[in-house]
Amino acid sequence: MAPSLEVSEYVQDVLSHPLKVGPKLVAPEPEHCPGPESESAGKADSCEGCPNQAICASAPKGPDPDIPVITERLSGIKHKVLILSGKGGVGKSTFSSLLAYAFATNPDSTVGIMDTDICGPSIPKMMGVEAETIHVSGGGWSPVWVQDNLGVMSVQFMLPNRDDAVIWRGPKKNGLIKQFLKDVEWGDMDFLLVDTPPGTSDEHLSVNSFLKESGVDGAVVVTTPQEVALLDVRKEIDFCRKAGIKVLGIVENMSGFVCPKCTHESQIFQATTGGARALAKETNIPFLGAVPLDPRIGIAADYGESFFDAWPDSPACSALKVVVRKVAEEMGLRPETVLPED
Ligand code: SF4
Repeated sequence: MAPSLEVSEYVQDVLSHPLKVGPKLVAPEPEHCPGPESESAGKADSCEGCPNQAICASAPKGPDPDIPVITERLSGIKHKVLILSGKGGVGKSTFSSLLAYAFATNPDSTVGIMDTDICGPSIPKMMGVEAETIHVSGGGWSPVWVQDNLGVMSVQFMLPNRDDAVIWRGPKKNGLIKQFLKDVEWGDMDFLLVDTPPGTSDEHLSVNSFLKESGVDGAVVVTTPQEVALLDVRKEIDFCRKAGIKVLGIVENMSGFVCPKCTHESQIFQATTGGARALAKETNIPFLGAVPLDPRIGIAADYGESFFDAWPDSPACSALKVVVRKVAEEMGLRPETVLPED
């Protein structure tokens, strides 16, 4: 058997132990810290010589008292949806921003988007609020409002310089995500979309553990058509099933390229094994639709504009509307109340 640097944990084991209270440390966690809230805190071999060892070893290991606080804080949000992908580069954040814009086309709906990709936050840029900062009031952190009914929260707003690299280790990532959920004053809201980093990392586990009590409607999984991307989607679906997260469906992004001049469609990423449609059938998960690769989606994201407003007659816009209505249907909503028919 090949040597391993770390002992892996099974998803069920991690999820069946709710996040614990973090002790107050006297020094930063060293590189191989198992996590001050973990069962092995202060007792693991890697804790030897750490100035926090006595504190971590004697810290209480009870359930996190912040979970009820988070539940109360999010009690005004009717629907919470996670946006996941197995792999990076499939357009998950772009899709999250498009879904948020689509939900916000109904002036009676209030929508929030939370960017938990703390190492590569891109939502503020895509929503045109990159230069904004967070306002703190007595009630908590206020989201940045893109329009009257569409708010954004991202770590990007806390960085002094937009090019600053953010290096977060596991326990700190959990802490930041917890702070987002605990301290952001979302108020009464119809939809909160949580844009997560690719894979099945700490952030997924944190978001799931923290949101467990307050309820998540489900997850939308974004992929591209080729088998290399679908391989990781299978893992993501497995993760959701073990974590008890309902998968609302799979979206196939970059599904063919539509020439903006002649609208002819070519297949850039070949669906050699049947693409997301075949995977949805195989895993018994709803197929939400296919969105073509359209360079104008990228342009709208770069300029922080709504693609729906900029190119309403494009084939990609029509395809996206089909997906949005299907997402609403899978959430148990009447699609025409979320996104009115054209
Ligand atoms: S003693 Fe605490 S802070 Fe130090 S390595 Fe162990 S768990 Fe991490």
